[in-house]
Amino acid sequence: MFFALLLAMFSINSKAAVPIYVWQSWDKNTTAESLRSDFAKWKQHGVVGVCFNAGFDIEKIKIASHEAKSAGLVYHAWIPCMIQTECDSTWYTVNRLGQSAYSTQAYVPHYKFLDPRNPQVQTYLINKYKEVAAIPDVDYVQLDYIRYADVILAKGLWKKYGLVMKHEYPTADYCYCKDCVAAFKALTGIDITKVKDPSKCKAWAQFRCDAVTSFVNKLAEAIHAEGKKVSADVFPGPYSHAVKMVRQEWNKWKIDAFFPMNYNDFYLQKASWVGKVTREGVKSVNGTIPVYSGLFICNDWQHKASVVDPENSGLLPSEIGEAITGSMKAGGAGICLFTANSMTPEHWKALDEAIQKWNNR
Ligand SMILES: [Zn+2]
Repeated sequence: MFFALLLAMFSINSKAAVPIYVWQSWDKNTTAESLRSDFAKWKQHGVVGVCFNAGFDIEKIKIASHEAKSAGLVYHAWIPCMIQTECDSTWYTVNRLGQSAYSTQAYVPHYKFLDPRNPQVQTYLINKYKEVAAIPDVDYVQLDYIRYADVILAKGLWKKYGLVMKHEYPTADYCYCKDCVAAFKALTGIDITKVKDPSKCKAWAQFRCDAVTSFVNKLAEAIHAEGKKVSADVFPGPYSHAVKMVRQEWNKWKIDAFFPMNYNDFYLQKASWVGKVTREGVKSVNGTIPVYSGLFICNDWQHKASVVDPENSGLLPSEIGEAITGSMKAGGAGICLFTANSMTPEHWKALDEAIQKWNNR
């Protein structure tokens, strides 16, 4: 009897050897009951926490975080940050052609990116996240879209948007508002609007990375003062992708957990790439901050061959084991599934097997 109990305890403990998180959004069918049943189901597979997107809707976050805590799960309030649709028109980033993201967007209509250097933007967002952090059951606020627009788009998306992006794309190169231009001139003496090819100006690229870093650190300080933690959804890297594509030099951010979106299909890479890029991320923060490897799951996996849009692509059940093992071998703190609802029974089965194999290694 005692031995059986010990065994049971050991199996619970060893199951946590690969902490699993999931991303999931509140949708039109979500209720407290549906959350309760989803959370219980996911927990059976070793899920230890949820990154849940209910926007800045305080009532919904209260319900979801309460259900998560009751189920014994860590709750990350996953919320898009720099993409906001309803703010003052002067708060938005301006591209190299002088177009504000408020009225003209790169790629898709929802790409309305605020200017991270704008003090009014900073105050607005910090207050919004503080309101979320004040909810007792929220453990972390999770910053998504904490970046500029993609000045270089992931290779796997070029076809979809009819682009070849070997260089920075002026339409998606931000921010050239008069405040940013003046601040850069004051700092370096360079008038970036007079530079023939701004993409060659290293100081200008660094200036934008620093703008994001400085805002993140300010926001994190405010959330930490509320006694809560901060996590962020970032591009892979940082230096191989995130810095170049979206100005996220995330190894300089003073936050508590990273969730790099190691979505191999977006980069026309195989599942084996996930481990490689996880290693880069872990090394970049010297192993001091947990890095959870974000995995993109292909829901319609039986038809993956005919899927042309990488945003509907992702890992097959047969690939999930390699992605998990690669992430853990690389020093990842765990994995995060995008999304829980994309996981088919075949995916869960492959995941369970991979975790068991990892535990018995
Ligand atoms: Zn600006």
